[in-house]
Amino acid sequence: MPAAQPVREIRPAHELPELPYDDDALEPVISAKTLALHHGKHHKAYVDRVNELTKGTELAQLALDELVVKTANSSPHSELFNNAAQAWNHDFYWRSLTPEKGDHLSPALGALVKSGFGGLTALKDQLAQAAVKQFGSGWAWLALEGGKLKVMSTGDAENPLVTGLTPLLTIDVWEHAYYVDYQNRRPEYVRAVVETLLNWKFASANLEAAGG
Ligand code: MN
Repeated sequence: MPAAQPVREIRPAHELPELPYDDDALEPVISAKTLALHHGKHHKAYVDRVNELTKGTELAQLALDELVVKTANSSPHSELFNNAAQAWNHDFYWRSLTPEKGDHLSPALGALVKSGFGGLTALKDQLAQAAVKQFGSGWAWLALEGGKLKVMSTGDAENPLVTGLTPLLTIDVWEHAYYVDYQNRRPEYVRAVVETLLNWKFASANLEAAGG
């Protein structure tokens, strides 16, 4: 008798995740208008397209992060990769921001920041610089690579999952993230996000989940 194939459950369609705060919670840095458009239109469009492109295929069985890794660097899957990665990146971005005041780093994250950058101010400066200097559309990231922190940026939909790194925080620097509020003044948007909105509790939890 041939070995039985494992039965795969049909996975429900991907859903647009709810924002972890109200539309106006990040004002004045990010307006309710920007947040509503960015989440309700841009993010939603990526999720909807992933569902359209995977419907009725084996790829519909995969979770979003698995889909990103599976379709990366595969030209027949470039549209699916772009939409899946953008859907994943946006969910991660919303959770990288918080209206809660203060930099709440776990002791483990604080130690890595100190050993890697000398302190949080220097890390924030590097993250802001990566975000400002990313040419065109993309993302700035704090990631974990081999037990150390790394500041990096990626173009378009690319993200650190693709190269086996663990993302800890991200900043969206596509124009749609800031154009309504800042027009072409990306450095102002980036500086305000880095100084007041980054969710260091989320970064700490991501570090802990990675065993760091
Ligand atoms: Mn975006």
